[in-house]
Amino acid sequence: MKYIGAHVSTAGGVAKAPARAQAIGARAFAMFTKNQRQWRAKDLSATEIAAFKENLDRYGFTPEQILPHDSYLINLAHPEPEKRRKSLEAFIDECRRCEQLGLTQLNFHPGSTLQKISEEEGLELIAESLNIALKETESVTMVIENTAGQGSNLGYRFEHLQAIIDQVDDISRIGVCLDTCHTFAAGYDLRTPATYTETMLEFERIVGFKFLKGAHLNDAKSTFASRVDRHHSIGKGNLGLEPFRFIMQDPRFDDIPLILETIDDSLWAEEISLLYSLVNPENNNS
Ligand SMILES: [Zn+2]
Ligand SMILES: [Zn+2]
Repeated sequence: MKYIGAHVSTAGGVAKAPARAQAIGARAFAMFTKNQRQWRAKDLSATEIAAFKENLDRYGFTPEQILPHDSYLINLAHPEPEKRRKSLEAFIDECRRCEQLGLTQLNFHPGSTLQKISEEEGLELIAESLNIALKETESVTMVIENTAGQGSNLGYRFEHLQAIIDQVDDISRIGVCLDTCHTFAAGYDLRTPATYTETMLEFERIVGFKFLKGAHLNDAKSTFASRVDRHHSIGKGNLGLEPFRFIMQDPRFDDIPLILETIDDSLWAEEISLLYSLVNPENNNS
């Protein structure tokens, strides 16, 4: 089963998210558990937590269909220890918020060297941060997203993801999220059957589909291998519709949240139904 959805707003509280997802025909969603542009947020109240869980039930979502995203401020590779510590504290807080909401995973961007340390050192710091976060939390799976490699962002090579995983103590709570725009901008082509197959074989070889816990479905304004992170609406960018057809027909992307982060949220309902129509062209009921 394909769980397709979008990154929905939590304006007015996290409990509002499930209805917003349902309204656009989503069977999955992403959300922030706090304001993503602020370091601190007040704790979730018991009432908010209960309302969120109740709405999940009401709108028919299970935790496996939800891929919360952490704050953009967090940099687990920050070269300055004080700032890295601040990031780690915020990350641990976000993991705990997910656990309080009964959610099973948290999606995060690996981090950035800020051109002050080597990539290797940055990847080591990320793994070190994750090892602490794993000890400080109970159950949430930490899902590393591949990046476009813009600026000094790590995570644009599958080898970066693998290097982090290799240095983590408890890999049972580590996952990976593939973003189609990032993958393409990082120099992995997806546009033809042959390049799609080759990219996914390489992902399997370097990282492994057993770690795949979600995907972000975004077309790209950025060009191939540009290392620029600019999303576009499905079928309107440099990826075009074909890569999404390949993913919809690829069972390795079954039963995980497939999340739109495309630029025009007024198109999400249409994009979700378009994607579902690609799952099984012979039978549009699936
Ligand atoms: Zn993404
Ligand atoms: Zn992006």
